[in-house]
Amino acid sequence: MDLLKIEDLKISFHNRERTLEAVKGIGFALQEGETLAVVGESGSGKSVTALSLTRLLPPPPGCRVSGKILYDGRDVMAMSPRELRGIRGRDIAYIFQDASTSLNPVFTIGNQIAEAIRLHFPQEKDVTGRVIEALRSVGIRDPEKRHRAYPHELSGGMQQRVMIAMALACEPRILVADEPTTALDVTIQKQIMDLLADLRQRRTMSIILITHNFGIVSGFADRVVVMFRGEIVEAGPTEEVLRNPQHPYTKALIACIP
Ligand code: ADP
Ligand code: MG
Repeated sequence: MDLLKIEDLKISFHNRERTLEAVKGIGFALQEGETLAVVGESGSGKSVTALSLTRLLPPPPGCRVSGKILYDGRDVMAMSPRELRGIRGRDIAYIFQDASTSLNPVFTIGNQIAEAIRLHFPQEKDVTGRVIEALRSVGIRDPEKRHRAYPHELSGGMQQRVMIAMALACEPRILVADEPTTALDVTIQKQIMDLLADLRQRRTMSIILITHNFGIVSGFADRVVVMFRGEIVEAGPTEEVLRNPQHPYTKALIACIP
């Protein structure tokens, strides 16, 4: 069975003046342990697709979402608010482009990770131990001390590691990484991709990597879907798509890889 399956997903935004069809009936599936890349230029509908997986988009009438989203055979579109809170972060975790706006500046990073652990594992006795383990697993040195740091005391790359630690602390089955390196310096981008590649190698969870940069997908994702203006124009095993792209947009993207 597919761990995640999306069919005919449509997302539109409405206001008095106009309707914007951001996603126009797309479908894809994700297997357990698989890494899938979603590639497309800015505005193609990648982020709203990612958010809709756990129904995080603004409620109607401003935003309408239709289609089928099945997580582990469960109908996400029919889930109660309580069920949705249960899968968000716990089953499907996210990291975003800019960790500095995702972290709360007035709480230590340890407290923020602890909060996520307490929410999903109320029985956990050693929350601090689990926080320290999570920080260690993403390569933060001296986590026994560093968990007391505030976000502003860390570099952008370190903040992104903290976001990954927070996502991993709840042992999700799917990690959605939405442009996780776009806001970082090139050398730091490589470090974060190496960390994600390391997680991928362990195959303990599935990863959806969202990016506008086809260059970081090669050697990382098992399969790729290419989005263009709210539609999937191409999908297949990554190396196959790289070797023999069919759609002109995919060809253009691949031509941009340095
Ligand atoms: P991508 O992540 O591929 O850059 P997005 O998924 O963020 O693109 O956006 C797809 C389209 O939906 C864009 O045209 C964007 O302006 C629009 N959009 C996204 N979020 C909202 C929102 N909350 N309200 C209105 N329009 C939105
Ligand atoms: Mg986006």
